[in-house]
Amino acid sequence: MTGTPYELVIGIETHVELGTESKMFCGCQARWFGAPPNTLVCPVCLGLPGALPVPNRRAIELAITAGLALHCETPPHTKFDRKNYLYPDLPKGYQISQYDLPLSVKGWLELPTGKKVRITRAHLEEDTGTLKHGEDAGRRYTLVDFNRSGVPLLEIVSEPDISSAEEGEAYVRTLRDVLIFSGVSEMRLEEGAGRFDVNVSIRFQENGKTMWPPQSEIKNLNSYQALRDAVAYESNRLWEEWRSGGDIRTRTGKITVGWSPERGRTYLQRSKEDVEDYRYFPEPDLVSLAPSPAMIAKLREALPEMPSERRARFVAVYGLSDYDARLLVSDRALADYYEAAVKAEPGQPKLIANWVIGDLTAALKRETIQIGASRVGSEQLAALVRLIGGGKVSGSAAKEIFGEMWKDGGDPEAIMNTRGLAQVSDESAIAAAVDEAIEANPGAVAAYKAGKTIALGALVGAVMGKLGRKANAAVVNRILTERLA
Ligand SMILES: [Zn+2]
Repeated sequence: MTGTPYELVIGIETHVELGTESKMFCGCQARWFGAPPNTLVCPVCLGLPGALPVPNRRAIELAITAGLALHCETPPHTKFDRKNYLYPDLPKGYQISQYDLPLSVKGWLELPTGKKVRITRAHLEEDTGTLKHGEDAGRRYTLVDFNRSGVPLLEIVSEPDISSAEEGEAYVRTLRDVLIFSGVSEMRLEEGAGRFDVNVSIRFQENGKTMWPPQSEIKNLNSYQALRDAVAYESNRLWEEWRSGGDIRTRTGKITVGWSPERGRTYLQRSKEDVEDYRYFPEPDLVSLAPSPAMIAKLREALPEMPSERRARFVAVYGLSDYDARLLVSDRALADYYEAAVKAEPGQPKLIANWVIGDLTAALKRETIQIGASRVGSEQLAALVRLIGGGKVSGSAAKEIFGEMWKDGGDPEAIMNTRGLAQVSDESAIAAAVDEAIEANPGAVAAYKAGKTIALGALVGAVMGKLGRKANAAVVNRILTERLA
C-alpha cells in the first residue's frame, strides 16, 4: 500500500446465514429478521433440557455448494463440535460448530483485479440469539430474542492475502456475489445475514529487520463502509501504538476489538490474557458426516456459472464492454433478464444491454423495485429493440414507447401504431419535407453553403418538425446533404 510506512496484512472471516427454510437443527423458520421477538422458537433452539438436534440436510448441501463455488476440497469425513462459552444470547451454553474437520478446505476466490485470495476453510455452525439493550426510568436492561438462535451459519475463513482496505471490500463484495449466484445465501447485509471479522496487522522494516507485531481482530462488521473505515482506523492505530512505544511492542498475542461507527473508532474487547478457551469436543448428540462423492458431484453439477465467468462470457460473446458486463452481472436476476432478451432478439446484444442498463435500470431505481417486479418483460424489451433495429422507430420515439410500456405493460408495436410513432423512412415523404425546409430557411442554407456546417442542424430540426419527430434521422441527413451539395 502506498502512502503508509507499513504494509497491511489482512485476513477476513465471513459469517453467512444460509438461505434455508428452517433452522440448522430444528424445524423453526430460519428467516428471522423482522419477526416479533421469540416467536420462531422451539425446545431445540431454546436449548431446553432433553431436546435433541437433527441436522438440516439442505444447510449441509448449501455449505458444500459454497465450498465448491470457492474451489474448495470437500474432505470425506467431517463432524460437528461443541464450542463452549457463556453468553446471554447462547441458550445452551455452547454453540454447535465445526472445529478440526470442517466441510470445506483449501479454496480460493478471484477478485475482479485477477488476484486470488486463498480460502483456508468453510465450516457450518448455528447462529446465536440477539440482544436488545435499553433504558427505562434510569435503569438499564437487556432483552434477549431467540428467533435467530439456531439459524444455519457458514463461516468462511480467508488466508491473510489481502493487502488494503479496498481489496478487503473487493473480497467481500466478490464473495457475496458468488454466494448469491450459487443460491447459498441472499446475504442481506442490512438484515445481519452477512458479518465480517477482520484480522488486521501491519508489517514494516525497522533497523534492517522485518517487524510484524500481533494483529487486531475487528469483530462483527456488517457493511462495506464499516469494513473500510475500521481497517483504516485500526491499522493506523497499530502503527501509532508502535511508534509511541505502546503495549504492541511486547504483546505476544492478538487483541479483539469492536468498531463504533458513531465514534469512528475501535474499542478494546479482549486482550490475549482473557481470550476464551472454548474447550471444543465432538458433539455427542450428532453423528459424524461423510458426504458421498455422488452427492458432491450432484451439487457440483448444479453450480451455476460464477459471476466472473459470466462477465467474461458477456464480453466475449456479446461484445459488451467490461463495465457494462460488470453492471449486468452484479445482479443475477438482471443478468438472466438480459440473456432472455438477447435470446428473443439475438442480433442486438449491445443495444439490449444499453436499454437494460439505461432506461430499464433507471425505471427500477425510481420505484426501488427489483428486476423480478419489472412491468416490462424481457420479451417485450426485445420486441422494442427489434423495432429500433429494424428502423421502424427512432431512438426518441422508442423512449416514449418504453415509457408507455412501463406504465402498464403493453406491446411496443401496438403502442407505436396507436400513438402514431412509426418512423417515417419513406424517402419521397422525407424529400418533400426537405425541399420545404430548404425553401423556408434561406438563411440557414446560405450559412451552410458558406461553410458553416453547424447550420445543417437547424435544417434537420425543421424537417423533423414537419414530420412530427418521427423521421428516420439518417435518411433526413443524407437527403439534406445531397440537396445542398
Ligand atoms: Zn427451533
